[in-house]
Order: sequence, then C-alpha cells, then structure tokens
Amino acid sequence: MVEKFKVDISKCIYCAGCVSVCPTAALTLNETRVYCDEGKCVACGVCEKACPVNAIRINKGGK
Ligand code: SF4
Ligand code: SF4
Repeated sequence: MVEKFKVDISKCIYCAGCVSVCPTAALTLNETRVYCDEGKCVACGVCEKACPVNAIRINKGGK
C-alpha cells in the first residue's frame, strides 16, 4: 500500500497547521517529524493546502 500522506520534513517549520486542520485527527507533530496515522487519513487534502511551506503531498488515490 502506498502512503496517502507524505511530508518533506526538510521543508517543515513545525507550525502544527496541518495537525490543527485535519478533520480526522490523523496527524501528530513532535520535534522531529509529522506523523500520519494512515488508518485515520481520508486523503481529503486539507493539510496539503494548509501547509505554509508546501511540504505535504497527499496521494488522493490512496493506493
Ligand atoms: S489528507 Fe486530510 S485526513 Fe489525511 S492527514 Fe491530511 S487533513 Fe488529515
Ligand atoms: S503545516 Fe507544513 S510546516 Fe506546518 S507542521 Fe505541517 S508539514 Fe510542517
């Protein structure tokens, strides 16, 4: 299975914007990474649009 959520952590500024907009609370943030619970993610793309540094890519096909 291909992951729905991908983040380029070298771009991430740890603003937590993606975490706060996710409608299914799939995302968690710590000092070193953004983690996506793929079982919760519905590939809506809201986090991708919300990221101020364009670090997130969502695979909407989810496969
Ligand atoms: S694509 Fe939607 S459900 Fe998945 S992590 Fe981003 S905001 Fe949450
Ligand atoms: S919105 Fe973008 S910059 Fe902010 S924590 Fe999420 S991935 Fe990182």
